[in-house]
Amino acid sequence: MRQNIVAGNWKMNLTLQDGLALVSEITNMVADEVTGSQVQVVICPPFPFLYSVGKQLPEGSNFHLGAQNCSDKESGAYTGEVSGKMLQSVGAEYVILGHSERRQYFREDDFLLSQKLKAALAAGLKPIFCIGESLETREAEETFDFISKQLKDGLFHLSNEEFAQVVIAYEPIWAIGTGKTATSAQAQEVHAFIREQIARAYDAEAADNTTILYGGSANAQNARELFSQPDVDGGLIGGASLKSRDFTEIIKSF
Ligand code: 13P
Repeated sequence: MRQNIVAGNWKMNLTLQDGLALVSEITNMVADEVTGSQVQVVICPPFPFLYSVGKQLPEGSNFHLGAQNCSDKESGAYTGEVSGKMLQSVGAEYVILGHSERRQYFREDDFLLSQKLKAALAAGLKPIFCIGESLETREAEETFDFISKQLKDGLFHLSNEEFAQVVIAYEPIWAIGTGKTATSAQAQEVHAFIREQIARAYDAEAADNTTILYGGSANAQNARELFSQPDVDGGLIGGASLKSRDFTEIIKSF
């Protein structure tokens, strides 16, 4: 069965000290709920904080560590790059790939992302693969074609075994950091469409087992309504993951 997940993407925010204080607040506030529940919480700090943040997550709990990016290369003379194996060696289990900010500001395209996916999977990481349309695409009523292409070009080259490791995050670009959330009906419509595409590319079982997260101005007020949709299995949270009260409210929203 698919897993409910609330993942916090800190993006390029906080210092190590702020990050450790935030994690300690979060774990103090919800350790019991998270340990006894079906929801996995994935904390995705910047690279330099990964090891220390991972050490601070209670052992044997449902708290997990994720990175925000990884190299498509395995190892060697690639100054500034961080490999999947390195991430795995500091305790990361997940890695966010294909975030719209990386596609837009760092020109990551489907080919590079397909290489990154392969590299992450080979290192034993579970990719959280992000897709989502711009406002322009939505207004042109091309959302479904766009999503379908992103899935086909970015993801559906994976084998069944590889695909089984992947979490998908639907993050409409117009909702990221804008305070403008997709309505639960809009999110459900796209999530159901994504699941249908998975069933076509793989099979019904794969579709049913895939965790599909919503991301884009999700917060303590709208999480319950979003998570109540049949095809929304949790959230990838940006801004609200930097505030312990908001993030823990979201965790408790299932
Ligand atoms: P916000 O929650 O800040 O809109 O960001 C969403 C996001 O990009 C998570 O990856």
